[in-house]
Amino acid sequence: MRDQIDRLQQLRQLDGTIRSLSGAVSARETDLQRKVTEENLVREALSSEKAMLGATQSKRRQADIEVETSRERKAHFEKQLTEVKTNVEYQALLREIATVEKSIREWEDTVLEAMETEETTQKNVKRLAADLAGKQKVVQAEREQFEQGKQAADQQVAGLGEQRDDLVAKLSVPVRSKYERVRQAKGDSAIVAVVNGSCGGCHYKLPPQTAAEVRHSERLMICEGCGRILVAARGSDG
Ligand SMILES: [Zn+2]
Repeated sequence: MRDQIDRLQQLRQLDGTIRSLSGAVSARETDLQRKVTEENLVREALSSEKAMLGATQSKRRQADIEVETSRERKAHFEKQLTEVKTNVEYQALLREIATVEKSIREWEDTVLEAMETEETTQKNVKRLAADLAGKQKVVQAEREQFEQGKQAADQQVAGLGEQRDDLVAKLSVPVRSKYERVRQAKGDSAIVAVVNGSCGGCHYKLPPQTAAEVRHSERLMICEGCGRILVAARGSDG
């Protein structure tokens, strides 16, 4: 039984290594995904700022036209001033001129406001474009690094998987079928070490007798709390 339990020990360590390799890959993938999301946010901000700039520019052009048109109307009224015959007509024209002057001032204000917005928006566009370029560079570099790392980890996992298959094949039929059953329920953490007298899987406090039997490796011990296979902790496992 002792050699069977030794193999289970090795199996547990292999599963742990495989799990941490896969875990590291998915952690890096999550990190990369987060950076891609940041890049997309900047891209969206840039595109909305560009839309804002376009709208502001067209608003300013429209206001420029209005200023021009109003000035022409004012000139037209001023010319009429020299031609009217009655004071009533003259007063009416002065009122028209006052109205059109007010309108010119308002359109000029609109032009100024639009120019200010344009200036700010242009700065934002420039800043966001630089930010986006930087983020794209980072994402691209990290993506390449990630792909390389993933490839290496996949190869390593495949190699470990073969070692694992060999080990499983060397288990006795009862131990193996027990192991396969627990593995179906518990996945990669089917075999756990006893840590300070408790199950390393569910932290169930084991009866001293069970803990002693695990230490002596005389028979296959199962945690009463979670049903995992218990092995003695050894070496750096504590
Ligand atoms: Zn347990």
